[in-house]
Amino acid sequence: MKRVAQFVAAALTVGMMGMHAGAQAQEYPGSKPVSAVVPFSAGGPTDKVARELVMIMSKHLGTTMVIENLGGAGGTIGAKKVAQAKNDGYTILIHHIGMSTAPALYRNLGFDPLKDFETIGEIADVPMVMVGNKNLPPASFKELLPYIKANASKLSLANAGIGSASHLCGLLFLSAIQTDLTTVPYKGTAPALTDILGGQVNLMCDQTTNIAGQLKAGALKPYAAMQSRRVEAFKDIPTAAEQGLPGVEVKIWHAMYAPKGTPKPVVDKLSAALQKAVTDPTFRAKMAELGAEAVPAQRATPESLKTFLAGEIGKWSPVIKKAGVYAD
Ligand code: ASP
Repeated sequence: MKRVAQFVAAALTVGMMGMHAGAQAQEYPGSKPVSAVVPFSAGGPTDKVARELVMIMSKHLGTTMVIENLGGAGGTIGAKKVAQAKNDGYTILIHHIGMSTAPALYRNLGFDPLKDFETIGEIADVPMVMVGNKNLPPASFKELLPYIKANASKLSLANAGIGSASHLCGLLFLSAIQTDLTTVPYKGTAPALTDILGGQVNLMCDQTTNIAGQLKAGALKPYAAMQSRRVEAFKDIPTAAEQGLPGVEVKIWHAMYAPKGTPKPVVDKLSAALQKAVTDPTFRAKMAELGAEAVPAQRATPESLKTFLAGEIGKWSPVIKKAGVYAD
């Protein structure tokens, strides 16, 4: 009898917990702010996309969204923090392509991008441009290539750590020209850019979202667009292929995630607000101004991102393994 009573009590508790979670998901987000972790420095490319996005998305979600910058180790520190965060929809992650390259690059990653997150949707595509300090002697990418070979021991290439977009682009570039340069890791390309401008480091492959202002002001030497066609907002910068180095193409994509087990109604509310934000003309215009492109609504969905992420992991793993790069 006592056992039966215990069983009934336990069953009721479980049922009530389920009801409670259901009720919580219905009330989500209420007035509680949502913390969006950006795993790179403030002011950098991921941060810029994230801040423009949450300004608009928070209106559609109905609550404040606060950016938390947690840079380091190519974005893996911030991503791991979100993987381990409470799965109640109040902590989310805004990351980039690094989510798909980290599994091949890190032997002890501490999280699985496919198993430890709920996908919410993609945000924007961002092109990359190889830039240098404006006092570097080569006037073009064509001139830069032999210059790098002749001065390899003196030149440095900045990046945002292993697994970052700048690292990936630099890796493909160095492997294509079969030359090694000293690489200098930062917590994001915002601080790296400061040092490029100051001449402490020489070169960087960066997202246009970070360097649009400096490109327009002529504060950097733009060497090549690292994609198959010229960047719409910077049509005067020729591609690497046009200047004799084909095949070095990286398209950076940003996306949003929640910790695994975040209730589906919560994920759906976040995704619905994201879809409204990426189709908002103000957000689209801001991205275009920075050389980027907001995704269409159908890519800002959990299902679409899930398939895309798995495809990107499959695409980059052999490339990275072949390059023989890893971090511990
Ligand atoms: N997205 C940059 C990179 O991966 C880092 C940043 O956002 O600062 O190089």
